[in-house]
Amino acid sequence: MGEEETRGTGSVDLRGIPRVDRVLANPSLAEAKRKLGAATLTRLVRRFLDEAREAVRGGAPCPSVEDVALRVAAHAERTLRTRARRVINATGVVLHTNLGRAPLGARVAEALASSAAGYTSIEIDLATGRRGRRGAFAEDALCELSGAEAALVVNNNAAAVLLMLGALAAGRPVVVSRGELVEIGGGFRVPEVMARSGARLVEVGTTNKTRIADYACALDAAPDAAAILRVHQGNFRQVGFVERPEHRSLAALARERKVLLLEDLGGGAIVELEPLGFSEPSVRSSVEAGSDVVCFSTDKVLGGPQGGAIVGRADLVAACRKDPLARALRLGRLPLVALEATLAAYLEGDLDAIPTLAALRAPLSAVHARAERIQAELAQKGVTSSVVELGGAVGGGACAEEPLPSFGVALEATGGALAAIAERLRAGDPPVLPRVQEGQILFDVRTLLDGEDEPLTAAIVHAVKG
Ligand SMILES: *Cc1c(COP(=O)(O)O)cnc(C)c1O
Repeated sequence: MGEEETRGTGSVDLRGIPRVDRVLANPSLAEAKRKLGAATLTRLVRRFLDEAREAVRGGAPCPSVEDVALRVAAHAERTLRTRARRVINATGVVLHTNLGRAPLGARVAEALASSAAGYTSIEIDLATGRRGRRGAFAEDALCELSGAEAALVVNNNAAAVLLMLGALAAGRPVVVSRGELVEIGGGFRVPEVMARSGARLVEVGTTNKTRIADYACALDAAPDAAAILRVHQGNFRQVGFVERPEHRSLAALARERKVLLLEDLGGGAIVELEPLGFSEPSVRSSVEAGSDVVCFSTDKVLGGPQGGAIVGRADLVAACRKDPLARALRLGRLPLVALEATLAAYLEGDLDAIPTLAALRAPLSAVHARAERIQAELAQKGVTSSVVELGGAVGGGACAEEPLPSFGVALEATGGALAAIAERLRAGDPPVLPRVQEGQILFDVRTLLDGEDEPLTAAIVHAVKG
């Protein structure tokens, strides 16, 4: 079926444009057809042929069947690569937002496979056969682990903060230090979330210094205030001429003035991380210091799936649970199963089953030994690398500007070669994400999970040897 048309001065011959069925039958599209389906692929081929027709009208030569098929195959591959898949994190950032924050590990994967693959007893009481409370185990475990009276789990910490403020302070003033009006990644800004919740923001203090007296003055001026909100200054650090009241003094002021002390804690550490050298307060310490309600993420230093928790005084948590927004923000079945499995590991004291904690707790000597083993393995396979000292990061808005001591292996390469190796690493199976810097590709081993050493070395060898 040829086509011919006249445009301007010359005539353009479109008869050489390949036919749809010929392109679809090309062997280079077999895999794409299987993975995307025949209908999607046909639409894609038509689109590329339309573009080819346009190009030919503009004076380009007619593409061959193979040309079009290869272009469509490359496009299909890019589409398939956008699908979320397992990758090896060699960046040294333990909670990497672009890599899904906390990895879940084998124990949680097993729970997902056994409890979530079929029907799940998520809202049924198996003792009585009657309807049960969704999230009951997770919420009871969070109380046990934090010392709080009550808990509620929701979709993420942004949801937890929104729900807490909406349920407990809508229409009323809430006092926040100017040093804590922060923006977390991904568009979460305290003033904007507060506005959406219906609470009225009252700013106190200055960017670098806020004293107890500032809070007291603000409460004098706002007799109908509902609460003081304390926000974890997660992903940035103030140094120098700075001041922030003691948590306990703030709690005492809130009690004296009969307002609530609400807290957005960010990370949700269940075990004390300060003895390990991380300046990240635990949920228990926040509850003990006197916060009436504490919100946190379950996929940051807690090391679980995406989720948010609201813990604290029973009457206040109950008010959050009763709010109509709670239903809209509830935690999904899959993350709930994963969260319960994570919390079960905490209850049993099986901390090594939580990969985030394993990465944070790994002694530097063990990290060093692991880097040496990988370097030796690479040498045996003909790839030259060196063991280097590195500074990773906790990530996920925790311990900003505090490098996480680590070791890794470094490959030296220049310009184009370096970019080509990094690209081959990302294109591999599994894809590997290293840290790329001037003249070097660095593989931080602290963020490697169990069993990833061998696939990592294989991927490096493959990428280097092209
Ligand atoms: C991370 C963080 C949030 C947002 O939590 P998500 O679970 O990502 O929704 C809010 N507040 C603070 C202080 C945080 O660190």
